Amino acid sequence: MAGGTVLVVGGGLAGITAALGLADAGRSVTLVEARPRLGGLTHSFRRSSRAGDLWVDNGQHVFLRCCTSYRRLLDRLGVSDLVSLQPRMDIPVRSGASPRVARLRRSALPAPLHLAGALAAYRWLPPAARVSAARAALALGSVDPDDPAVDEESFGRWLARRGQGPRAVEALWDLVGVATLNAPAERASLALAATVFQLGLLESNDAGDIGWVRVPLQRLHGDAAARALAAAGVRVELRTRVGRLPTTYDDVVVATGPAVSEDLLPGDALDLAPGWSARLGSSPIVNVHVVLDSAVLDEPFVAAVDSPLQWVFDRTAGSGLDPATGQYLALSLSAAEELLGRSVAELREWTLPELGRLLPRSRSARVLDFFVTREPQATFRAAPGSRKWRPATATRLPGLHLAGAWTDTGWPATMEGAVRSGEAAVASVLGRRTERTALGATA
Ligand SMILES: Cc1cc2nc3c(=O)[nH]c(=O)nc-3n(C[C@H](O)[C@H](O)[C@H](O)COP(=O)(O)OP(=O)(O)OC[C@H]3O[C@@H](n4cnc5c(N)ncnc54)[C@H](O)[C@@H]3O)c2cc1C
Repeated sequence: MAGGTVLVVGGGLAGITAALGLADAGRSVTLVEARPRLGGLTHSFRRSSRAGDLWVDNGQHVFLRCCTSYRRLLDRLGVSDLVSLQPRMDIPVRSGASPRVARLRRSALPAPLHLAGALAAYRWLPPAARVSAARAALALGSVDPDDPAVDEESFGRWLARRGQGPRAVEALWDLVGVATLNAPAERASLALAATVFQLGLLESNDAGDIGWVRVPLQRLHGDAAARALAAAGVRVELRTRVGRLPTTYDDVVVATGPAVSEDLLPGDALDLAPGWSARLGSSPIVNVHVVLDSAVLDEPFVAAVDSPLQWVFDRTAGSGLDPATGQYLALSLSAAEELLGRSVAELREWTLPELGRLLPRSRSARVLDFFVTREPQATFRAAPGSRKWRPATATRLPGLHLAGAWTDTGWPATMEGAVRSGEAAVASVLGRRTERTALGATA
């Protein structure tokens, strides 16, 4: 029925996608967001420092070429020119124990052969382990992520059964897995891990090309969305926390996080027992921000082995820092349960020597600014068995729909998952059946 009224609760990527899609389909849409800005878990703030005024993202975000729904949203928001996307996946991998660099760089060969050369030359694994890793990768390609038994299994146990020892897990599997799943292999669902590796690395040769943002996240998502929503005729109410769902709309899309969603939904809305959002749980991400008085990293990012630092990104351009003043590095630390409670001083004492081992030039650079951003509930917990706690878009109550990266998209908690969930909510409101495929929810 064209022209019906819809309330979207929550202005993260899921809510933004749902509101835009429904407005485009002719619905009269109101989007309500508790905070003073749109963008949800992707946002930025200003910080004055010795290095000048900086734009700081709450956490470094990257995407892959296979994130087609997310990239379509960027197009819809008119901001695709504000991101960079590698023409060919190329991950420099440095070690905290050696000055040498390895590159996980794909070739133009069809998948999965596109990674064969990179793996064969990957110096952070002994040659026999490279062959064994290639075999395990091929086996992972035929794991069925939609099999509930697969979701109950731990990725770490599966890797161990395929002869992947601690070194292979650290230097290869967790290098990709921790950043995308926000969980180490031993605590990750095999189904979610298989999804990430299949979609990103095994099925198509350009799927894993890496994209990143050249501007503050707030400009890319929240600010651009505010303009696009206004142009589409969506009424946006910021600073408005919904405490109870109104009954005055034809449809309501709840696009908040899992805990708030459980509070907002009537008890009979889902087939899940009370307490489901706590059972799903969450995992933190910590970002350590270091501004140095000289450049110490010559590439947009680097991944780390033999180091707790995981991934380091050059945020100089995105933060507005004058490159003549120095370099702004964001150290993205996923699955950061143990770091969450540490003070800035403790993190500084721990980080700077590690940074010195990974990027030796940083040892002689002066620290102009050092601070930390913490997101305790960055993602849902991608644990074995998590899928049964991820509800579908449609609820048992007519007119009530869900969206959010944590809903049953088949993807881990990513921007792509959030946008797909928003697309699924549009389809649900419009009465189209959504089918969950190996690629997640598609209209
Ligand atoms: C530090 C960090 C790093 C990340 N890195 C990556 C990455 O590299 N790549 C990637 O793809 N993903 C990454 N993610 C995950 C990604 O950001 C999220 O999956 C995605 O943004 C979630 O979007 P969402 O719309 O589902 O939820 P949210 O962004 O959580 O949106 C929910 C919105 O609802 C609002 N809300 C809550 N309660 C109410 C209420 N009662 N009334 C009204 N509004 C309410 C909230 O304020 C919020 O704006 C990262 C996340 C973090 C935190």
